[in-house]
Amino acid sequence: MVELALDGVTKRYDDAQGTETAVSDFSLTVEDELLVLLGPSGCGKTTTLRMIAGLETVTDGAIRIDGRDVTGLAPSDRSIAMVFQDYGLYTMMSVRENMAYGLKHSTDLSAAEREARVEEMAEMFDIAGLLDRSVTDLSGGQKQRVSLGRAMVREPDVFLLDEPLASLDAKLRSEMRTELQRLQSELDITTVYVTHDQKEAMTMADRIAVLDDGVLQQAGPPDRVYADPTNRFVADFLGTPSMNQLPAVLDRQDSDRYTARFPADDPTVPLAAVPSGVAVAPGTEVVVGIRPEDIDIDAQSPDGPVFEAEVVVTEYQGSDNFVHLLVGGTELTAVSPPTVKPEPGETVRLSVSPSDIYLFDAETGEAIT
Ligand code: ATP
Repeated sequence: MVELALDGVTKRYDDAQGTETAVSDFSLTVEDELLVLLGPSGCGKTTTLRMIAGLETVTDGAIRIDGRDVTGLAPSDRSIAMVFQDYGLYTMMSVRENMAYGLKHSTDLSAAEREARVEEMAEMFDIAGLLDRSVTDLSGGQKQRVSLGRAMVREPDVFLLDEPLASLDAKLRSEMRTELQRLQSELDITTVYVTHDQKEAMTMADRIAVLDDGVLQQAGPPDRVYADPTNRFVADFLGTPSMNQLPAVLDRQDSDRYTARFPADDPTVPLAAVPSGVAVAPGTEVVVGIRPEDIDIDAQSPDGPVFEAEVVVTEYQGSDNFVHLLVGGTELTAVSPPTVKPEPGETVRLSVSPSDIYLFDAETGEAIT
């Protein structure tokens, strides 16, 4: 059981243009789990990982491993292994030599013990048959296995991965995702995994930490973060297609129920009933969030107010369709089953269950619950 703790970690870069805050007051504890750091390009994921590894200095805050403050320690004194997107293998060496290189600091091991460790890890990563090959002769997927094996052979306390699958093709990426998950749970090692790919994050993570502009937005199990996004950014970032976010005004329906309508385009279009118990005064401007998969098209027994929309285009996706719609002048995307494929120009009736409606503060973007 190894606990990695980030405590108010901040990174500022100073250059001729001024000061850039790459990571701001980041606090989180990771323990015997696979934590995925997720966010758009430039949000501070790699900087965070490099600070944990000791490859980047920390401007403020502390990093602890099992209570030991490692903030000022050299990378080699942290019991951390890191794997990069571009493999970082030594091209002049064989697979075996590359993997043994991971043990160069393990002076307490005999030559036989080193060899045994390399062989064991090679078995685990399914590269035992490649040990005496040159790394230059390997495919991308094999190279990535070697670089993972080389990192793990040291039996580090913390495993850091920076977009390790980004250079692989889609099929291999998906296979390696499953395998990395299996290995992580078999080895039971505290792991931080960086990606900007939300699908990768959703499928692999025990917990996701979503970053935006250097600030941690939300951390939690993927299904919780998806179901209860803390703000508009997180709601938008998770899900394909993204959550529909529509500026609206709340109207009182009865004592504790509201309907939301589009103010700008068509004041008469009620978008949906808002779940009861939401503490917002009628007339308040909000942003209504609806996941595309929560919109029913021409439902037989709709579970909420029904409103009309015009079909712009239906995109065939194989297992379902993405239907792009216009309600008044507002664009909306729905996901429909393969049998529901309305034609452009057709008018359809949409319904959304009140329990599937999200509300966000129009000014701050924070979720209203
Ligand atoms: P990507 O997914 O594109 O790799 P990222 O989320 O990993 O992005 P970082 O590489 O951590 O983002 O960068 C965060 C911010 O810090 C960016 O605005 C970047 O320009 C800035 N930054 C990173 N390294 C430096 C540096 N050495 N000097 C100045 N600014 C830097």
